[in-house]
Amino acid sequence: MKEKLLGMTLEELKQAAVSCGLKGFVGAQLADWLYAKRVTDWDRMVNISKAAKQALSEKYDLGTSKPVGTSVSTDGTKKYLFEVHPAGNNKIIPDAITEKKRAQNQPGNSLVENEIVGEMTGNQPDVKFERRSVSGPSVENIKKTVTEDCSTVQDGCRMGDRIDEQGKPEYVESVMIPEEDRKTLCVSSQAGCKMGCKFCMTGRHGFHGQLQAADILNQFLSIDEAQDLTNTVFMGMGEPLDNYDAVSRAIEVLTAPWGFAWSPKRITVSTIGVLPALKKYLDGQRCHLAVSLHNPFPEERLQMMPAQKAWDIREILDLIRQYDFSGQRRVSFEYTMFKGFNDDKRHADALIRLLRGLECRVNLIRFHKIPDFPYDCATDAAMEAFRDRLNNHQVLCTIRSSRGEDILAACGMLAGQHSSSD
Ligand code: SF4
Repeated sequence: MKEKLLGMTLEELKQAAVSCGLKGFVGAQLADWLYAKRVTDWDRMVNISKAAKQALSEKYDLGTSKPVGTSVSTDGTKKYLFEVHPAGNNKIIPDAITEKKRAQNQPGNSLVENEIVGEMTGNQPDVKFERRSVSGPSVENIKKTVTEDCSTVQDGCRMGDRIDEQGKPEYVESVMIPEEDRKTLCVSSQAGCKMGCKFCMTGRHGFHGQLQAADILNQFLSIDEAQDLTNTVFMGMGEPLDNYDAVSRAIEVLTAPWGFAWSPKRITVSTIGVLPALKKYLDGQRCHLAVSLHNPFPEERLQMMPAQKAWDIREILDLIRQYDFSGQRRVSFEYTMFKGFNDDKRHADALIRLLRGLECRVNLIRFHKIPDFPYDCATDAAMEAFRDRLNNHQVLCTIRSSRGEDILAACGMLAGQHSSSD
């Protein structure tokens, strides 16, 4: 497979040109077309000679590709579906599926104690997704799985076994959210996700591979609104800090003067709190941070988010408190509201205590119902009371407006649908 030009730094583009027997300035022209002008095909790069394009394209791929699907909401929110080919295409499927596969290989074993909560809609259509008690994998395995390259993950790792499916494409989503004065793109950073959050369709599908910086940047370049985007949030499929190198490279291209030249203030990275990479991110980047909190009680958070076992929310907050968020860089906390689970005064008060003294904002998020999940979204009245209680106790809190419900804008819904229809 040819190396992709998209995602290269200015210096790397110049070296690529030189490696094809061209002058280095051709690399600068490429950066200008790809990043400043956001042009995605060779034919429109009119100041690069035909011979130079020929030489470059023999060795390199531009790295751009059109979306393979689009849905438009009545509110203008637009969801794009991209086909990607993650390196190695190694899957890590949810733990429960691994167990079922093991059980199928061992006659006499039974999974009756596991409560079946939904169909697996990925590439194993005959396999049910099962919710287990919060026991889950060991802390060591969670950390190992996330911090090591997926190619080294062995049987029994956090979210289950690895399955090699060379050559089969995966699908990732981006959502463009138009507002009065901005157009925000919510981008994916991985095909699937290892984190297994119970309320998330992407988590249900398991991990299908790391995106390259080119796959991430292509989501910006190949959509209809490429020229008009003003902001981005890394809040689509995947855990961005579990693919730190590709995400930080994409941020470099987005913020460099030779790249998109965006201010870091226009970029927010959302994480569940992968601690080692979070420290790297806070030390090395100036973009905003959003932390998926969802519950102030560690044991309840663990019920929804297995990663709580590896990276306790209290440790995450201890780290965040070491950095200054009173200036340009901001930290916010995402709090999805589930009726009867995390939406009452007890939770609001615990959240106030947890965040006391931190310069931050809490975003309350309406839960987009997913199939076979036991909780509904909290009521408007509960969300408003929760918001008011936080605001009255000096914790800035807003309810995020819900967008694109009619096009399955919840993370992973469209990709899951696509995979299940294959
Ligand atoms: S909510 Fe985010 S971190 Fe959790 S499984 Fe979904 S994509 Fe992964």
